[in-house]
Amino acid sequence: MKAEKTQFSCVACGQQQPELSLENGYCPACEAIARIVREQPEMVRQLWLRLHNEPILPEAVPRSIESEAELPDVLDGKRYRTIDRDRNKWYLSVSEVNGKPVEVFASTAFDRDHELQSRISNLTTITRLISLILRHIFLGEPLTFDKCLKQIQRSSRQKNDLPDMLYGVLSRYNVPRQKSDEPR
Ligand SMILES: [Zn+2]
Repeated sequence: MKAEKTQFSCVACGQQQPELSLENGYCPACEAIARIVREQPEMVRQLWLRLHNEPILPEAVPRSIESEAELPDVLDGKRYRTIDRDRNKWYLSVSEVNGKPVEVFASTAFDRDHELQSRISNLTTITRLISLILRHIFLGEPLTFDKCLKQIQRSSRQKNDLPDMLYGVLSRYNVPRQKSDEPR
């Protein structure tokens, strides 16, 4: 009986190889490609676009920002006019990046009513937190406890309104950041 030399197949192309010539499970040719994919994803993106005339993984998050400060000064957007159950007129504005919603604003006539400051600050809290979540979903902005706190704090208009009280309570939990909380 003839002794067979143990062969392994490359995890990418399936070609049979002696075990020693496999690196990370890849044959030499595929390992060269895998290394580029690992170390130079931007080059892969550009090559793919060039060779296939379409973006690679068009569904993937197109880019990542660190904070809202990186948003362009001028954004596309849509404004919707609605009427609530109390017959107040509202304008709901949605700012977009690449057709995705990344910020919301809401305004209504009670903006000018001085007795309704607390309603406005509650409204601001809602839209600021929704915007933070939208940027996380659509722009890959890291979502951190610090940012939640900051948005709640900025929503406050006067001492002891709801966002101010929430900020006070939640700030107690603002311990120094753990290693595992850091963005990837
Ligand atoms: Zn291979």
